[in-house]
Amino acid sequence: MSKNPIQFQHGMSLSAFVDQYGMEAQCEAALQRARWPQGFICPECGGREHSKFLADGRRYWQCTHCRAQTTLRSGTLFHGSKLPLTIWFQAIYLVTQNKNCISALSLMRHLGVSYRAAWRLKHKLLEAMAEREAVRQLDGVVVADDAYLGGKRPGRRGRGSQNKVPFVAAVELDADGHPWHVRFDPIADLTAGSVEDWARRALGETVQLVTDGLASFSAAAAVVQTYGAIIVTPHRSSDLEPFRWVNTFIANLKTAIRGTYHHFKFRKYTRRYLAEAQYRINRRFDLPSLVGRLLHTCARTQPAPEKWLRLATARAG
Ligand SMILES: [Zn+2]
Repeated sequence: MSKNPIQFQHGMSLSAFVDQYGMEAQCEAALQRARWPQGFICPECGGREHSKFLADGRRYWQCTHCRAQTTLRSGTLFHGSKLPLTIWFQAIYLVTQNKNCISALSLMRHLGVSYRAAWRLKHKLLEAMAEREAVRQLDGVVVADDAYLGGKRPGRRGRGSQNKVPFVAAVELDADGHPWHVRFDPIADLTAGSVEDWARRALGETVQLVTDGLASFSAAAAVVQTYGAIIVTPHRSSDLEPFRWVNTFIANLKTAIRGTYHHFKFRKYTRRYLAEAQYRINRRFDLPSLVGRLLHTCARTQPAPEKWLRLATARAG
């Protein structure tokens, strides 16, 4: 059997990671480059002229124009965290270089922090992934199917069953029928209104959408250029070529989530857990760069306090 080049690609080795990000000063320099690649920009007024000073062991950038004082972490995902950046970077490494999801419990053990600190780290990183992925719209030929977390997919009658969390899985295919980008979106229900909302968020206007003919998917026709339904009998769509990839991704996603989150609060954190899988799949061609890319995203993500993380709602806009 031939090796799958994506599965067998080299990630970032642990020793390469330690060489690059083993010391606090290295992490600070990397965060500074990620946050201000062209040099300091005042978050208040956009000014560039500044002075620097140290107070209470922290470095401050003071804007010459408006006098606002900024630390490297303030206004970013790292805001308010007492953990050293080395621990944050190790969490970024573990979250991005694992093939599957990593639980807060595993993070706690690897990082030597409390469970609560590990949970916060994990959910803050997932939030950064979710916000980065929320703006991605699929293009070209897209195959979509509904799926459920929390049990086997029910038959047609069971769609929307109470104890399962419905989501839409969609895969963008290239001209050769190979999968390119994916989206996994939690959806309140499979009514026409919810499906149309999903289509507006997830799909570009020129999309040619293929589904298995679930009636509510036809609501997406209002949004996309071409809508085609391939009518299949229940439970049989997995055998059909156009649905092969979407079903493969759904199966892998479920295996990863089941293997990681034994006490998974499906409904509450679905958006973040699905986004984690989506983020990883959409960047699967270049594993070593993921540490730097997620760092870049974290530097541009607003602070996410624990209280807000536990509400698990999406940030508006
Ligand atoms: Zn300023």
